[in-house]
Amino acid sequence: MADISNTDIKYLPGVGPKKAEILNKEVDIFSVEDLLHYYPYKYIDRSRIYYIHEVDGNMPYIQLKGRITAFETMGEGRNKRLIAHFTDGTGFIDLVWFQGARFITDKYKVNLPYLVFGKPTAFGSKFNIAHPDIDPYIEEKAEQTNLMGYYNTTEKMKTHYLNSKAIQKIMTGALASALPHVFETLPQSIIEKANLLPLKEAIRNIHFPLNPTILRDAQYRLKFEELFYLQLNIFRYTSDRRAKLKGFVFTQVGDYFNSFYEKNLPFELTNAQKRIIREIRQDMATGEQMNRLLQGDVGSGKTLVALMIMLIAMDNGFQASMMAPTEILANQHYITIQEFLFGLGINVELLTGSTKKKKREEIHSGLLTGDIHILIGTHALIEDTVQFGNLGLVVIDEQHRFGVAQRAKLWTKNVNPPHMLVMTATPIPRTLAMTVYGDLEVSVIDELPPGRKPIQTIHQYDKKRGALYNSIRKQLSEGRQIYFVYPLIEESEKIDLKNLEEGYEHICEIFPEYTVCKVHGKMKPSEKDAEMARFVKNEAHIMVATTVIEVGVNVPNASVMVIESAQRFGLSQLHQLRGRVGRGADQSYCILITPYELSADSRKRINIMVESNDGFEIAEADLKLRGPGDLEGTQQSGIAFNLKIADIVRDSQIMQYARDIAKEVIDRDPALENVENQILKRQLRKLGGNRYNWGLIS
Ligand code: ADP
Ligand code: MG
Repeated sequence: MADISNTDIKYLPGVGPKKAEILNKEVDIFSVEDLLHYYPYKYIDRSRIYYIHEVDGNMPYIQLKGRITAFETMGEGRNKRLIAHFTDGTGFIDLVWFQGARFITDKYKVNLPYLVFGKPTAFGSKFNIAHPDIDPYIEEKAEQTNLMGYYNTTEKMKTHYLNSKAIQKIMTGALASALPHVFETLPQSIIEKANLLPLKEAIRNIHFPLNPTILRDAQYRLKFEELFYLQLNIFRYTSDRRAKLKGFVFTQVGDYFNSFYEKNLPFELTNAQKRIIREIRQDMATGEQMNRLLQGDVGSGKTLVALMIMLIAMDNGFQASMMAPTEILANQHYITIQEFLFGLGINVELLTGSTKKKKREEIHSGLLTGDIHILIGTHALIEDTVQFGNLGLVVIDEQHRFGVAQRAKLWTKNVNPPHMLVMTATPIPRTLAMTVYGDLEVSVIDELPPGRKPIQTIHQYDKKRGALYNSIRKQLSEGRQIYFVYPLIEESEKIDLKNLEEGYEHICEIFPEYTVCKVHGKMKPSEKDAEMARFVKNEAHIMVATTVIEVGVNVPNASVMVIESAQRFGLSQLHQLRGRVGRGADQSYCILITPYELSADSRKRINIMVESNDGFEIAEADLKLRGPGDLEGTQQSGIAFNLKIADIVRDSQIMQYARDIAKEVIDRDPALENVENQILKRQLRKLGGNRYNWGLIS
């Protein structure tokens, strides 16, 4: 067995071609090396031996020591079962098998000492353990195998006698023959520096831990390694990209920026806005292509930052473009930006899916000649027919709606890639952002414009609407506007959701003296825009909508956001929706309506919303509730799923440490040419081939 990564598992004792095929198909184990990296998902402490008289109905897996007094077959047909009466002198318990009776009676004998392991269930006044693990009781062995690993197995595996115990047995054989052929995958210097177990020891102990401490060390070593290579790959990729790509150098701040600042800027920038504009300016002057993520809570004023950065691009002779995830939002940006730029002689255009053919052609030529300075739009922007004369900067609003591939496509719009500013109001912790988005630099607007009153969030049960409608009427009479948001209705879903149409009619009845408008995803864009416009102009006082309004709509006069069936929304979505109010100087409210019966998770989400207004706090809580697998963005980048043992949320500290060390390595030896780094290069190549797919990440 020279190369364990090339040795087929079918040659291992206890495997063979048939089981090998199952392992290939079910859990992607092909080589002996794959098998060694198939880690237990949990460990059960077998150091404690219980007495039978202690057993009750609520115990997890337990271990008993005793002997079988007799076997007995009971029941008929499907109910037929083998029972072993088992005692340890403090009581009796039944061990039960529904299959494989012959095997059991051959293997286990009456009156010999055994260790029995399993989960007791109450059966009338007696207890039994179904399909227990049984080992002969040997004095020393009982002390050695304290922590027993459990392996994930599928139904298919189990029907082919590949349960956790069987895997464990195969693993024992594999370790004995393959461990001498396991080679270290990290340089000695890193192992020493990070105080890691050698790989061999880590692998042995992840499967058969001698004690809890060494198990922790083994886990740490393997997690570190996964995260280290992840980070190393990012840095390698970044440094390659930096070497290959030249960024435009924006040296000046000129007339466009300055006249906007002096003449048109309607308010003082917040300190955070100033700081970030400075950061970005510096970043765009280095000669490297900027790739920056701007995180800022809803309402923190990202649009204005984007606009001022676009003006800097123009001051340096370039065009700029801004892409939004929905037509409504693109429209809104277009209107806002035109207002901001009024009278400055800057040509802004809007390109969306519903731009008419003639207008579209005008825009295409205006972009090539450079007559158009700023183009705002939706996905329509990245169509191949859209070519710029001199595109220097692309701003992407609400990143999480765009795939990595779409972002990459924007690069092809120019010989040199434009600078990229990606904005999101769904913040994720910094280390995670860097991992998920590869090499993006991260800026954070951690301050809201002054004079905003924190939004009051109230949880209200379905049935009690009278008081709610009274408070809403009061707001309306003071001239404020109201949103009612319903979950998106999927035709196939039979869940009893308040239908948007019904809701609309109901609200029209309750508030006959006010005008109600309606927006949902199935409307034509032109209809949607018309309805939105009525609300923006305060011709409609109440808007009934699905989540199409989630992203970015700005109506400062709106003061109440009512969210129907709030339990159906995710945390970040709720926070986004809430951000639609609280934009003016008045006290604003967010009302979360739910039924009385709520799942524990839903109740947690609602409580977090009631207690916190802080997007970062909410994002962290969300991540903890949902796990990183759901994190928008990880799906496309395929990161979270390729880690076998590390968890980018739970192990974020290890990741930060691994990142620091990876950075040191690349700083010193960007192309990994030094002798001691050959091991890294080899390993990266190997991982790149099957586990990580990094080429896609920009
Ligand atoms: P978001 O970060 O959610 O995209 P916006 O850019 O839509 O936030 O800004 C929210 C509102 O705050 C807008 O009406 C905007 O004009 C206003 N705003 C932005 N910056 C400031 C500031 N420095 N002072 C006062 N209001 C501001
Ligand atoms: Mg915005």
